[in-house]
Amino acid sequence: MLNPYKKDFPLLAKTYQGKPLIYFDNAATTQKPEAVLKAMERYYIEENSNPYRGLYDLSTKATESYEHARKKTAEFINGKPVEIIFTRNTTESINLIAYSYGREFLTKGDEVVVAISEHHSNILPWQQITKEKGAKLTYLYVNALGQIPEEEIEKKITKKVKIVAIAQVSNVLGTIHPVRYIIEKAHKKGAVVVLDCAQSIPHYPLDVKKLNVDFAVFSGHKMLGPMGIGVLYGKEELLLKMPPFLTGGEMIESVSEQAATFAPLPQKFEAGTVNVGGAVGLSEAISYINRVGYDTIQKIEHELTDYALNQLAGIPEVTVYGESVVSNYRSGVISFNVNGIHPHDTASILDADGIAVRAGHHCAQPLMKYMKLAATCRISFYFYNTLEEVDAFVKSLSNVRRWLN
Ligand code: PLP
Repeated sequence: MLNPYKKDFPLLAKTYQGKPLIYFDNAATTQKPEAVLKAMERYYIEENSNPYRGLYDLSTKATESYEHARKKTAEFINGKPVEIIFTRNTTESINLIAYSYGREFLTKGDEVVVAISEHHSNILPWQQITKEKGAKLTYLYVNALGQIPEEEIEKKITKKVKIVAIAQVSNVLGTIHPVRYIIEKAHKKGAVVVLDCAQSIPHYPLDVKKLNVDFAVFSGHKMLGPMGIGVLYGKEELLLKMPPFLTGGEMIESVSEQAATFAPLPQKFEAGTVNVGGAVGLSEAISYINRVGYDTIQKIEHELTDYALNQLAGIPEVTVYGESVVSNYRSGVISFNVNGIHPHDTASILDADGIAVRAGHHCAQPLMKYMKLAATCRISFYFYNTLEEVDAFVKSLSNVRRWLN
């Protein structure tokens, strides 16, 4: 399978452990195309300065680049620029919502609902804020395939619920959750929905207007961009009602000895010097994704996932968790174990063959406990992976037992 995109990624051309690198840990972070690296280099070589503050041309250029990235991000998800807050990552975005919206609007006896399959980033902020406010954190439990049954949604999303926080795609089982349905149910009961798009936006388009979602969050580094830049989308009318999360420079209108007034959106939520280089990288990553197109991304990943699941089904000592065939309900994240072998050992043997996979609890200990698993191995594809890489992975995996027995 000739992949026309791989050549755009400098790190994928490198040998690793003396072999061509096979990078199957895209759910953790993706590789960066040359275009993104170049855009950031250009920014630092030609425009680097502190935006907003300077009254000189260089600073104006940095401000323009940053605001251009905001506009680009807004267009990408069909929001308005004032509704885009740049953060460090998905984790910070969720914390911002919990500590601003949650602290302001949750009261004793309210409920916050998350799925048992959430990443710790979408559990811990809610644990903290519900404890602080005397509210309750409840869970939507998944079935053996990792899916949330409709009855569970009906039962748990009640009038007591004020916030539903859910990932569009699970980072462990690759399950695609029925978020449109969940958003409709939550709104009927008067709750707002926080959509964790960390694992979905690299692969599926997001239209916040069409979904009518209240908040959506994601990380630049999981969608070809650099680390250190994340996005929080919030409906303008909600962001306007929310108090600042972090305070300090850049987010003020005026400050006196004992008080301050705050800048309008979106600066109200961007305290301190912002990450212009990161925003420039994210903006270029969006351009790259637009050039490839989500249809192509999905077509390649669908083929890779189908092929890998079929190959894994042919190895009797391998157990795949969650949905074991491609469907509209699963993405290209595959969790598995080689029976009787610790996933860390499996990952180490694959690593010796130049294959990078993840092993562990994947920052989802409640799910692991619920599924009675200590840990799993996880492969996760992106559009620059190939069927030949899957073959090499399956071959290496078939040797795991031989190595360890
Ligand atoms: N949510 C999900 C579903 C994730 O997969 C991840 C990271 O793997 C996160 C949140 C946290 O992302 P970050 O570490 O970039 O904040």
